[in-house]
Amino acid sequence: MTTATTPVREGLFRATDEGPTLLASRCASCGRTAFPAKPTCLACGAADPAVVELGAEGSLLCGTTVHMGNSRFQPGYTVGYVTMPHDVRVFTQIQALGGEVPPAGTTMRLELVPMWKEGDDDVVAHRFVPAEEVRDA
Ligand SMILES: [Zn+2]
Repeated sequence: MTTATTPVREGLFRATDEGPTLLASRCASCGRTAFPAKPTCLACGAADPAVVELGAEGSLLCGTTVHMGNSRFQPGYTVGYVTMPHDVRVFTQIQALGGEVPPAGTTMRLELVPMWKEGDDDVVAHRFVPAEEVRDA
């Protein structure tokens, strides 16, 4: 039996030949870019913003370690904001470096990983890892 994968939510990311990319919406009227993509622009209310790729690299704005678990994650996981192109800030899980939150300004790279199981399916979501960590792997 093979394990199927299900995205945590449709329209958040996709795989490309160059690797995974996050997907956002960009307003043709005012230029505001939003992640996750929205059906209408949050700044001016224009309908049907275009879907744009944010790419896979950003800069860590800040992060923290969460010391309370929940139904999906054990205590000690790390979350933070990553600044992406078009001034989009993505709230995301991030990979700690030896138990430490990477310093602000660290270049972070997107990866799509199985986060938990639903039935036999792996639920896949995005997270960011320090780019140096990716190169060293
Ligand atoms: Zn707009």
